Amino acid sequence: MTATSFHCYLVAESADDEIVTSIASQERSDLPDGDVLIRVTHSSLNYKDALAATAHRGVVRSLPHVPGIDAVGNMLESTSEQWSTGDDVLVTGCGLGSDQWGGWSELIRVPAAWVVRLPDNLSAVEAMTLGTAGFTAAQCVQSLQYHGVTPNAGEIVVTGASGGVGSLAVAILAKLGYTVCAVSGKSAAHGLLRELGATEILERSAVTDTSDKPLLKARWAGAVDTVGGNTLATLIRSMRHRGCVTACGLVGGDELPLTVYPFLLRGVTLDGIDSAACPMPSRLEIWDKLSGDWKPDQLELIRTTVGLRDLDSCVTRMLAGQTTGRTVVDLNLAQPASSVFDLRD
Ligand code: NDP
Repeated sequence: MTATSFHCYLVAESADDEIVTSIASQERSDLPDGDVLIRVTHSSLNYKDALAATAHRGVVRSLPHVPGIDAVGNMLESTSEQWSTGDDVLVTGCGLGSDQWGGWSELIRVPAAWVVRLPDNLSAVEAMTLGTAGFTAAQCVQSLQYHGVTPNAGEIVVTGASGGVGSLAVAILAKLGYTVCAVSGKSAAHGLLRELGATEILERSAVTDTSDKPLLKARWAGAVDTVGGNTLATLIRSMRHRGCVTACGLVGGDELPLTVYPFLLRGVTLDGIDSAACPMPSRLEIWDKLSGDWKPDQLELIRTTVGLRDLDSCVTRMLAGQTTGRTVVDLNLAQPASSVFDLRD
């Protein structure tokens, strides 16, 4: 990074309409308008970023685009009285990396209203190990609590358990004393899931029921579902009376084949989680928990650190369901000269 130019991971469209990614050199003047300029030290890889890196129309508004829905770093410039140069801050969700230029960039410029002070008890790397995944997992846990699902209520099932949201949900729930059953398609992740606190691990097929039965055997007191589709429908039909399902993901599909009977006969709650749009007071409350009593003890265990140059292969593996835990992007790792281009060339 120089006084004016910096690097970012750029998704663009070539002259023959191909989606191309590169590590691009950009000028500060290329950044969108905003109240604060942040030097990003770390970002992370979330499923939404993997979609953005392939220019998925459900995530990316226009091209060229810089993915990265998470960023942590130091305040370089601020026109807002709320922030001063040198403040350690983080941004997750809002429009970062979807509506506008994201955190896979040495610099971001964003509205002051998106910014959260980095909690005292979190390093930059820890904050990005949590990132949107941890923020979402915590929102799911908070929702279970809100709907009266206590550790004594029974088993909590977590799907996509070896992924970012899943692994952090397992760790937070176990730390709070819940009995956690992890559903995972990766036999290689069973040891990790037990270290995170899962007491039982099930294959994905155990929560896949393609029959048209409106209700299945009641087992779960609560659920954190990152998969959607038939998995979510199976969980909803398998809840105990007054159980709560938190739905946050769609890696297995966006449909929901279901009748109303689980809601009418078992009083099941289905709670949707929308972390990108979480209002600031709730956002601060969640980060307070994540940096306090809810902070998982195993962040190092689930973290893989990469540079911008490694992201293409990480994205491919994530979209194939092959990544485990959380991938932190270290913007301090040198970018290779061979992959740097200037968009204005
Ligand atoms: P990851 O890729 O880290 O984790 C997803 C996990 O799901 C995989 O590791 C795998 O775990 C499992 N999985 C993958 N493909 C399938 C499949 N076809 N069927 C069943 N399970 C599968 O992603 P994230 O944790 O970042 O995100 C998970 C989901 O949550 C995504 O859909 C994402 O968009 C969503 N999300 C939503 C948020 C919100 O606010 N609503 C915020 C953050 C994420 P395993 O091998 O262990 O089964």
